[in-house]
Amino acid sequence: MNITADRHLVPVKPVQYHAFVCPSCGSGDIACNGVLFPGAHVLGDHRCNACGLDFLRDLPVGFSVDHPIAIGKTDGQLFNQSGAESWLYGPLLNAFKNRSDAPVKIERKVLRPSKRVIILDTIDFLYGHVLLKLYNAQHYIDNYPDHGVVVLLPRMFAWLEPKGCAEVWIVDVKLGQGQAWHTAINTFVQERLVEYDEVNMARGYAHPDFTRIDIERYTGIAPFKLQEFSTRSPHITFVARQDRLWFANGLAKFCSRAMGRLGMKGLAKMLFVSAQDRMIRRSMRAIKAAVPQCTFSVVGLAPKGGYGSLADDLRTTRMDEAMERTWCHAYAKSQLVVGVHGSNMLLPTALAAGCIEILPYDRHGNIVQDISVRWADRMQLFLYRFVGEFARPGEVARHAIGMLRNFDLYYRNKVTNTFGSDPYWTGKPRRNE
Ligand SMILES: [Zn+2]
Repeated sequence: MNITADRHLVPVKPVQYHAFVCPSCGSGDIACNGVLFPGAHVLGDHRCNACGLDFLRDLPVGFSVDHPIAIGKTDGQLFNQSGAESWLYGPLLNAFKNRSDAPVKIERKVLRPSKRVIILDTIDFLYGHVLLKLYNAQHYIDNYPDHGVVVLLPRMFAWLEPKGCAEVWIVDVKLGQGQAWHTAINTFVQERLVEYDEVNMARGYAHPDFTRIDIERYTGIAPFKLQEFSTRSPHITFVARQDRLWFANGLAKFCSRAMGRLGMKGLAKMLFVSAQDRMIRRSMRAIKAAVPQCTFSVVGLAPKGGYGSLADDLRTTRMDEAMERTWCHAYAKSQLVVGVHGSNMLLPTALAAGCIEILPYDRHGNIVQDISVRWADRMQLFLYRFVGEFARPGEVARHAIGMLRNFDLYYRNKVTNTFGSDPYWTGKPRRNE
């Protein structure tokens, strides 16, 4: 494979990526002086030989794939020729101007030493972004056997270390600090870079095709097998976030926000979290009335209580690796997971067979971004349901009951009795052709 022509790799060493022109004068005569790794962004260090501008430019990886920006090194001037949105460049510009020299603990695990590496930087300030970038690891592990994959991974995701990578660099950076400029991370990476003959960056695409990803290689937990949908006892897990709520109606949502602005956030949370719990319990009871053998789990970062014998209450205020795995086991035995749109749905849908998602109107543009879509045929339409943000518990229950009752017929008609093959029935992801 001609590695320099591979669009899924961005070269760092021995040849550095320089397929662009000077952001100030447009000259293609650009000097490359190395690559910086301050955290979520990876930046080339350049000088324009024509106009003398010293600048840093985003490598097209992670969320900068389409919108790399450049920053003047002397004055912090922003060059945003590709029209990046402010949420992309604002924090980077701010980080550049407020660089932190604070020490950062980094643990280096060498599992399979290699002189030719592909680095996947998963550092980010949003939980879902880290996870989605991490999903990229498998593609590089499977398709580049002559290279070692090195994952730069925030500590809270260390439990998802993908099987088969060459090295893992576990960084003690909290999510909220994911966008900061950490001089210590760059220093650590620079010390490593000299050890390799060839270094590339993985793209870290935001939405790799999940039907090709084997989540068990990350979690160590096998996902729900589709062929067991009807033979396994029905189980549904509700994901009950307290910071993004399922509201009964527009008035409730308005009141919650207004109370928050009036300094009554605590009271609003108490009222509307209770209301959400009532709607979840009503959904469970309605499902149970139609499918009596159905059992439930409820997960979320919250104190336990209120579900009695109705559900296995797995909520906690102290998250750790054991709890992450307990939740994953609940998803993996669930025909369905139910929850409000958000990155909190990524792991549940990676392990369960299907979902019902409450999709707020202002998130319509983000539909499916938070779903780890396991199925590539018409089962997608059957297994991934979206309801409006003020959906009634009865509507959620109707979807759940219909999915549990109609699965066999739908599958037979749409997959078995067709001219296509049945590649998804094993529950294993598709192989790369
Ligand atoms: Zn120039």
